[in-house]
Amino acid sequence: MLKHTPLANSLSELDRRHLVHPVSSYRGHEARGVRVLTSAKGATVTDAEGRELIDGFAGLWCVNAGYGQESVIEAATRQMRELPYATGYFDLGAEAPIRLAAALADRAPGDLNHVYFTLGGSDAVDSTIRFVRYYWHAQGQPQRDQFISVASGYHGSSSMGAGLTALPIFHEGFGLPHEGQHKIASHDLYRNPLADDPQAVIDASVAELRAKIETIGAERVAAFYVEPIQGSGGVLVPPPGWIKAMREVCTEHGILFVADEVITAFGRTGPLFACEDEGIVPDLMTVAKGLTSGYVPMGAVLMSDAVYDVIADGAGAKAVGHGFTYSAHPVSAAVGLEVLALYEGGLLENGRAMGARLQAGLQGLMDHPLVGDVRGRGMLAAVELVTDKVAKTPVPASLNAATRLFDRAWDQGLVVRAFPQGVFGYAPPLCCTAAEIDAIVDRTRKVLDLTLEDPEIR
Ligand code: PMP
Repeated sequence: MLKHTPLANSLSELDRRHLVHPVSSYRGHEARGVRVLTSAKGATVTDAEGRELIDGFAGLWCVNAGYGQESVIEAATRQMRELPYATGYFDLGAEAPIRLAAALADRAPGDLNHVYFTLGGSDAVDSTIRFVRYYWHAQGQPQRDQFISVASGYHGSSSMGAGLTALPIFHEGFGLPHEGQHKIASHDLYRNPLADDPQAVIDASVAELRAKIETIGAERVAAFYVEPIQGSGGVLVPPPGWIKAMREVCTEHGILFVADEVITAFGRTGPLFACEDEGIVPDLMTVAKGLTSGYVPMGAVLMSDAVYDVIADGAGAKAVGHGFTYSAHPVSAAVGLEVLALYEGGLLENGRAMGARLQAGLQGLMDHPLVGDVRGRGMLAAVELVTDKVAKTPVPASLNAATRLFDRAWDQGLVVRAFPQGVFGYAPPLCCTAAEIDAIVDRTRKVLDLTLEDPEIR
């Protein structure tokens, strides 16, 4: 017998009772209820009340190609009709994942020629952890089991990857990080006392990474994980040369360098991969989000020739025991191929132009009394609110600033990320028009003005 009386059948009531939301206060959500989205087109989403909003965050920094792209819908439909599923086990395969792997290898930096498809970013990161361990075992160095990542970094929510993530709520109550998961400080140019001298920031991070490696013992360090721009930590952009310097330290010690491009790949910062901005080639790279532009789930690990060969030779005739039922899903791959065609057919170019407009527009908010910092690159940006510009005093977290700021933006017809520390995050679809970018900036100013009148946040 079904448990619901007709009265309890409203969507919000069903949601409250049954749907557990990701990264949310369960009790807070029960009290606030759900906002249901019903449709979307381009950069505009529509809610159940018929309100249209500009999605300044592309869902969860993923709908890079924008909503309602007919060619993507057609590609998915065609693939579902012809062959909705094929496993990659037993030497089987399908055309779309093979072509997408080849297309990614063709475009990826250096010799990242081998692609392992996952379902999203977290299992891509988790897969790299498994591949890294296997690589060192295959080299006769199983003691290389220590991992280093960067404070304020985000590397997903899997049981191992969440330990590399360096945000407190992902650790507290979960018994994380695991032993052997170390952190160095973030570059965080806004609150870094050395920020006036970018080279000093780089030198300090290099020194800290070296010291960390020495304390652990270089022969025990397996890999270093880094985002080209830290996303979930509040869109923190390292100074030019920082990533390269970190890469060099890893190379010196034979430590694998893993670039987590789950947010930054597929035009978010301008090029297809942010590593291109940095002029580096990682040993492994993770991507997701823009890979399928959120139409269907998919992520990927890209491996260098050297990493792949060590793993392949290490296993020999034995199977490498890592795989999912939905690795290399044909429908996701068909979407990935079509989305890539859209990026290269003009969206990357539009994204670069709109990214410059977004950064300039948001910089124009620096005159606002509540704005302490504006930062970003391309179509990835943040505006940090402070209650005192000189002291850089953060908005009090106890006031639930994130929810209040998010609601206020929503009321102005704008979807943005509102981080708990009082930071607005922006990652609009690359298809945005100039008018939409200007509206994102104008609506943000309106939200800031309204916030200025809020005695609890001031
Ligand atoms: N790595 C990074 C850098 C991310 O930003 C994210 C998601 N925001 C992940 C990994 C995890 O991806 P997913 O949420 O698809 O599991």
